[in-house]
Amino acid sequence: MAIATINPATGETLKTFEPIADEVIEAKLELAQQAFKKYRQLPFEQRALWMQKAADILERDREIYAEMMTLEMGKTLKSAIGEVEKCALVCRYYAKNAAQFMADVPATTDASSSFVRYQPLGPILAVMPWNFPFWQVFRFAAPALMAGNVGLLKHASNVPQCALKIEEIFTLAGFPEGVFQTLLVGADKVADIVADDRIKAATLTGSEPAGESLAANAGKNLKKVVLELGGSDPFIVMSSADLAAALSTAVTSRMLNNGQSCIAAKRFILAEEIADEFITGFVEKFEQLKVGDPMLPETDIGPLATPAILKDLDNQVQTCIQSGAKLLTGGRPLSENAGNFYLPTILADIPPKASARQEEFFGPVALVFRVAGIDEAIALANSTSFGLGASAWTTVNSESDRFISELEAGAVFINGLVKSDPRLPFGGIKRSGYGRELSIQGMHEFVNIKTVWVK
Ligand code: NAP
Repeated sequence: MAIATINPATGETLKTFEPIADEVIEAKLELAQQAFKKYRQLPFEQRALWMQKAADILERDREIYAEMMTLEMGKTLKSAIGEVEKCALVCRYYAKNAAQFMADVPATTDASSSFVRYQPLGPILAVMPWNFPFWQVFRFAAPALMAGNVGLLKHASNVPQCALKIEEIFTLAGFPEGVFQTLLVGADKVADIVADDRIKAATLTGSEPAGESLAANAGKNLKKVVLELGGSDPFIVMSSADLAAALSTAVTSRMLNNGQSCIAAKRFILAEEIADEFITGFVEKFEQLKVGDPMLPETDIGPLATPAILKDLDNQVQTCIQSGAKLLTGGRPLSENAGNFYLPTILADIPPKASARQEEFFGPVALVFRVAGIDEAIALANSTSFGLGASAWTTVNSESDRFISELEAGAVFINGLVKSDPRLPFGGIKRSGYGRELSIQGMHEFVNIKTVWVK
């Protein structure tokens, strides 16, 4: 895949980049290693000052960064501004809490003193996706850098200018040279970089094939990885639910980021009693959404990030219809437009054997299902290979208890939108990946949890 900025709203190639040469990769790895030796010794207060400065820069120049994201991958400008603000928030969160998260933890044993000490590992490679070009990187970088690690970013090939801007932000904030570097390289270079002795661990957010490949290479080299992969999150609505709130959250959740979010609700599992009313409202709301220029404030849905994503999504929709599913609205690209636009789409009556039931639809497409009761709802929710997030709507306590304990997911939200929050761990189970980001658990993924025993 070429490293280039191609405007998804117009198809125009705006800028192309040559991947950096092997000698440059070597120099950057060496710089990271050298930078780590000094950086790890610095007090938390110093790192926190730089991290707060990074937050200040993000807030000050939010429009510039947001426009870059919209230009490179098509999210609406208003959502891109929110994303930059969230990055500032995660910087401030770790600036404030890192010292406490990394403090020694005493344990009572047969020693005169025993405790756990958290120490940084070294240079960490982050392989990141285009869908939240800033947020995905900052949620890795803020805890990793505050812990005393140094970061190397291999960003998705369609967001190179975002990748360069992020490096610039850390430099402007005052972090020493080599503490955070962007590597403009293709996916073909990742295996060699992971194998390099100077890289101590890696994290990847992206598709299952990319996760499998990174995990295999890391395994060969006995290095730790965190994987945040795909999802087909269920959104369950029981008959007691606040239907109006569930409905508007369902639309928000499915359409977030033009439908290209790992934790978007993708399968809507509806109790028979409320299914007709829900579906009527769902179709109405989808048809009211404005698809168009992502730079305009009135736009709800911008283009998909690349023509390949548009084509793959449309193929999935057509295959689903051919397998016997019913199309309730949408179901095709917006042909009068030059960019990668797809109409908000709802599919119902999906046959039990349809492959769609097992797939992730990475665009504005919702699958709806009817169920007779909570047993069927939970069984259907758990019937995919994914396990990222789940949202369940009910006002019956015994039902929410069952959802919390029986849904196979890294997160369960009752009567709310599944979202990431620096204060809570984020990650999946099953084929959605392993390991956690954010909160104290995310910070502890890339540290040596050292046992100390003194007599
Ligand atoms: P992708 O193709 O897997 O790309 C993600 C990153 O991995 C890019 O930097 C890509 O580089 C790189 N990559 C691709 N193949 C690789 C390989 N064989 N070895 C090493 N690196 C490789 O994913 P995407 O299509 O851009 O992103 C969409 C997927 O990400 C969806 O499945 C979505 O659910 C998932 N996602 C998950 C989370 C989460 O937190 N769980 C969050 C966001 C997205 P190139 O661009 O150079 O190919």
